[in-house]
Amino acid sequence: MSEQAPSERAAQIRAQLAEHLRFLQELGVQGFSRDPKWSGRSGTLRPAQRIANIEAEGAVGGAPMPTQQGGPHGGAALQAQGAVSLSSGEALREIRVDLGDCTRCKLHRLGRRQIVFGVGNPDADLMFVGEAPGHDEDVQGEPFVGRAGQLLTRIIEAIGLKREDVYIANVIKCRPPENRNPEPDEVAMCEPFLFRQVETIRPKVIVALGTFAARALLKTQDPISRLRGRIYTYGPAKLIPTFHPAFLLRSPDRKRDVWEDMKKVRAILNGEEA
Ligand code: URA
Repeated sequence: MSEQAPSERAAQIRAQLAEHLRFLQELGVQGFSRDPKWSGRSGTLRPAQRIANIEAEGAVGGAPMPTQQGGPHGGAALQAQGAVSLSSGEALREIRVDLGDCTRCKLHRLGRRQIVFGVGNPDADLMFVGEAPGHDEDVQGEPFVGRAGQLLTRIIEAIGLKREDVYIANVIKCRPPENRNPEPDEVAMCEPFLFRQVETIRPKVIVALGTFAARALLKTQDPISRLRGRIYTYGPAKLIPTFHPAFLLRSPDRKRDVWEDMKKVRAILNGEEA
């Protein structure tokens, strides 16, 4: 591979920086802070640990359906005996094993390629919850890797984090056909696994992306347009509902609302009252 000339490299960096600034401007960012809390994963954020793409770790079938009362790490009986203390990564793997080659709802026979469990830092302070995998996620086995996912990654970076610092999951783990909305029976079967993921990771902040995530976590029927703009609680975590990145691709003028929400996220992570 040929070495890049310094002038070419500088031009490339300038172009990348210009693109980054254009994106921040679209979000409505009005300036930059020299506060170190904004410049990296310092402050109150726990260091990124190993990425747990649990999907890659294999699955077994026929495991029992978990309940919300089953304890955050599953294996509740063993824990009650005081025998085991699982790390978050191990506990997430256990949830993935419980999920198995899931056939609990009809989505398993409606064309899903694979289960899309979740990805990211098992000890993340910040967790994003989406709706369901789309085509790209179904192919790659990882949430938010398509166009909406790329936008989500940029939003994460706009608050000074990397994708690997956070944890990303969906309410529904299998792709609905033609990307239709998840149906109530599918949500009812799948959401206990999301709840267990949240209880295991114990994030400080959960961002619910779009109506389906907000409804599942807040147990409401309200649409995202009514829910966003306020901070809720989910157990010990703060929950911030915001617009889904796929909606932002269709309605870019709403990026500013999302930026307002993300500033609240950053403030809570920094230990400031939002
Ligand atoms: N939309 C979602 O809600 N989740 C994904 O993983 C991808 C797109």
